[in-house]
Amino acid sequence: MVISTRILKENLEKELKSRNIKLSYQRLKVLEYLVENQCHPTADEIYTHLQKSISTLSKTTVYNTLNLLIKLGLVRVITIDGHEARYEIEIGNHGHFKCESCGAIFDFSIDIDSITSGDLSDFKINNKKVYFKGLCPGCLSKTYEDK
Ligand SMILES: [Zn+2]
Ligand SMILES: [Zn+2]
Repeated sequence: MVISTRILKENLEKELKSRNIKLSYQRLKVLEYLVENQCHPTADEIYTHLQKSISTLSKTTVYNTLNLLIKLGLVRVITIDGHEARYEIEIGNHGHFKCESCGAIFDFSIDIDSITSGDLSDFKINNKKVYFKGLCPGCLSKTYEDK
């Protein structure tokens, strides 16, 4: 699922304005990083990248900002392997594919809301996740070249 960065940025500004959210410069930069890098970075990756241009940035600020953005519904946290939290801008329900070779995580569109099971008719579902694992096209082509 590739959503244009430009559209996301415009929507984001509208969203922040309409909800009367004012973010400090550092917090805005964290949010912008997630809009521009839809690669599901970890908090460490976000910190390492932003620290280059914002030398006063602390890891605590990055973590606090991410938690705030999650509370505001602008960012979601995903844990694919159970231990490593990754962050992404909230772009609606979609599935994640993790490449077992290079570790990259890809978004794909899937109608998660329509996935259901009669076995769960008496249950209340709060959260649905779709995770696939395998090899991405880049790693697949490398595998073929090696042969
Ligand atoms: Zn790969
Ligand atoms: Zn995603």
